[in-house]
Amino acid sequence: MDRRDLLNIVEEYGSPLYVYDAEAIKNQYIRLQHAFSDVPSLKVNYAVKALSNISILKLMNQLGAGLDTVSIQEVKLGLAAGFNAERIIYTPNGVSLKEIEDVATLGTQINIDNLSILEQFGSKHPDIPVCIRINPHVMAGGNTNISVGHIDSKFGISIHQIPHLLRIVENTGMNINGIHMHTGSDILDIDVFLHASEILFETAKNFKGLEFIDFGSGFKVPYKTGDIETNIEELGEKLSGRFNEFCTAYGKDLTLAFEPGKFLVSESGYFLASVNVVKQTTSTVFAQIDSGFNHLIRPMFYGSHHEIENISNPKGRERFYTVVGYICETDTFGSNRRISEISEGDILCFKNAGAYCFSMASNYNSRYRPAEVLWLNQKAHLIRKRENFEDILHNQVDVDVQLEREHISVQ
Ligand SMILES: *Cc1c(COP(=O)(O)O)cnc(C)c1O
Repeated sequence: MDRRDLLNIVEEYGSPLYVYDAEAIKNQYIRLQHAFSDVPSLKVNYAVKALSNISILKLMNQLGAGLDTVSIQEVKLGLAAGFNAERIIYTPNGVSLKEIEDVATLGTQINIDNLSILEQFGSKHPDIPVCIRINPHVMAGGNTNISVGHIDSKFGISIHQIPHLLRIVENTGMNINGIHMHTGSDILDIDVFLHASEILFETAKNFKGLEFIDFGSGFKVPYKTGDIETNIEELGEKLSGRFNEFCTAYGKDLTLAFEPGKFLVSESGYFLASVNVVKQTTSTVFAQIDSGFNHLIRPMFYGSHHEIENISNPKGRERFYTVVGYICETDTFGSNRRISEISEGDILCFKNAGAYCFSMASNYNSRYRPAEVLWLNQKAHLIRKRENFEDILHNQVDVDVQLEREHISVQ
């Protein structure tokens, strides 16, 4: 996709707008497959929450991916997109036993991350195979050292509770068919990740009926030039080697699973917004766009950096702008960015807008959520309509509000 394509698309579908390049998603998927081509069996489960449009899920299905889901609604989206239930893994945190049972009924692989539910589920349904999510308490500490961190994380079953976990499995007679971790932190140092993997292998030895080991995600993608990204090829080489050794020792070829969200879709996405006002104050030039954290919250929520380009005037003189939105709240997308000269009506393009952008959008200020377009085979396909006023009122119950006279106090 180039600048011209993006301008044509925003001209046709209006702003603000999300655009995703199918080719970019495919390339990332293939890259991951290549990096792990040496393991007996690889399963890439796309993390639905990153970008959950049904057409994106269908693209993942075409590529041969499975799905990683965190709610029963995401499981149902996956089924609606044509996935077989067995190709979906459900990795919730803090949900009710009832929801887990409902998902199990659909035929989806369950992943349990706490001892209380594990015991209840195992007692009631000892025949349903379950994966367990382990918290290895490993995270990167600076550049070279590995530190034990996140001891208070709400995710996963602590490795310090393995004896208790084994007692539950033995008492219930349940079948553990997978071991999982997802630390949530970026994999910048491959040795840190390998260290956590060793803990997972150590844990895995306790279970005889394993089918897969799931290493979660955490693949970091570059958000700006010079950013460090996970070296997938190096990780593939080192982890595959260790995984194959483990399988030999275990006496069975297992499946190596990953569940990337950001890695697959972040760089495929562009967020296009139009400049309403250029506002010069004594110290700053603000470019105010027809959007805010209701459409793209990452910069305000996580302090994330998204590159911003003025695609309407790519060759203009560069000036410093603070790009903000139209929401009645501080909604700064970027401060003092060097951007090619901006005029009102120009289209600004935000990069890395594929993951956790649309999926975190809201209706704050009663604004419509943007439309979404998939660029597939050199053609634009609308995959979500822009909301309209009916959508804002949808589900609101308009009761006949009549205060009784005596309750209205008049001073
Ligand atoms: C969010 C999530 C992922 C995806 O994380 P990314 O950083 O987007 O790759 C994978 N697994 C689980 C359990 C998650 O909650």
